[in-house]
Amino acid sequence: MPISCLIVGGGLIGRSVAYYLSRFTSHILVIDEDPVEVLSPPTRASLGVLTRPTTSLDALSHFYRVSHALYQSLAAELVQETGIDVGWTACGGVEVAYDDQESTTLHDHVQRLQQRGAYCQWLTSEQVAAREPDLVSAPSAACLWPADHQVDPQRLSRALWSGAEQRGARYQTGCVRGFDMAGNPAALLTTGERLEADAIILCAGAHSHGLLADLGLPSSVVRAAPGQSLRLQTSATVSGIVHWAGYHMVPTPEGTIAVGATNEPVVGEGIPAATSEEARVQLMGVVERLLGTGGTVVAHEGGLRPKPRRGRPVIDRIADADIFLATGHYKNGVLMAPATGQALARWIVEGEPGIDLSPFRIRR
Ligand SMILES: Cc1cc2nc3c(=O)[nH]c(=O)nc-3n(C[C@H](O)[C@H](O)[C@H](O)COP(=O)(O)OP(=O)(O)OC[C@H]3O[C@@H](n4cnc5c(N)ncnc54)[C@H](O)[C@@H]3O)c2cc1C
Repeated sequence: MPISCLIVGGGLIGRSVAYYLSRFTSHILVIDEDPVEVLSPPTRASLGVLTRPTTSLDALSHFYRVSHALYQSLAAELVQETGIDVGWTACGGVEVAYDDQESTTLHDHVQRLQQRGAYCQWLTSEQVAAREPDLVSAPSAACLWPADHQVDPQRLSRALWSGAEQRGARYQTGCVRGFDMAGNPAALLTTGERLEADAIILCAGAHSHGLLADLGLPSSVVRAAPGQSLRLQTSATVSGIVHWAGYHMVPTPEGTIAVGATNEPVVGEGIPAATSEEARVQLMGVVERLLGTGGTVVAHEGGLRPKPRRGRPVIDRIADADIFLATGHYKNGVLMAPATGQALARWIVEGEPGIDLSPFRIRR
């Protein structure tokens, strides 16, 4: 009898879990408050930067590395299976500093990452100009992160779902209010509907709080941290990722430039994602600083990042129950989506995730 799986949340993590699970079973139902064509706010806001894998031996770095490495073949498979080019490129990233203080910060940052086994090359102003001719001239320090990659999160989200759907996965719009753990696990909808499955996977991102509490789990382990980004039509272009002062600027497949992201204080449960004029001005300032010119805003998106305690996502199984958790991916949910989907699919179907998930337990 094939395993039936119910995925609560159709953001990038839920869709990646659905995609990898669909290689083993067609009995998959994704349930989300929004219809399938409406991408989740963090998916829309995300820049798709897959940045600076290190060779460090700790489990989180290993997980990043595995996920980063899955992208090239995943992108090729998705284009073959769905016809959607997810815009994956091994574009590299240039990090720039424009004054003494920024240079000191950049040197410290590079040193910390190099100690963890990241590889970077220092660049001269001429090398920066050759790579990114539209950047304002003469950074006081600059380096190249050759292992930085990029993907388009919106195309990725559509492609993952399309791949899963082709293999039989279904999608239902609805809001889960809790679970029933007697016998086979079941999700309880606000409409009163009860949906039973062999395995339930909770992928509710920054909205996981109430559902974790319903399961008797420490719910404050994942909180909601807003972030915003802009897409701009500009006369200038960038060829790859540009990092500056904690911000990133990336080219998009549509020929715009995406810039982000703001880092805003954690908000309480139930506060929706929003955009603000203050963030728009802040992000336009980044573009003007780096390109010496503004642009026309074609999209301004805000999303809630699922911020975990202790900096690690929650990827776990509730003891003695077939309820799995995949949330808390914070600023690297796009990066970690393939490894999360792959590990959960193996765990549910084969009984072993195939990768060390012990640091990602909910009780930390
Ligand atoms: C501005 C910004 C820039 C970012 N840039 C990057 C980047 O460059 N690289 C990177 O790797 N990551 C980036 N991220 C982070 C990344 O976008 C997130 O980590 C990731 O999208 C989280 O995906 P998720 O599926 O866990 O959550 P979500 O996308 O929030 O999906 C959760 C889904 O669950 C549904 N849901 C919740 N509760 C219920 C319920 N009770 N019943 C039914 N459905 C429910 C919601 O409707 C939603 O669709 C960025 C985030 C932001 C905000």
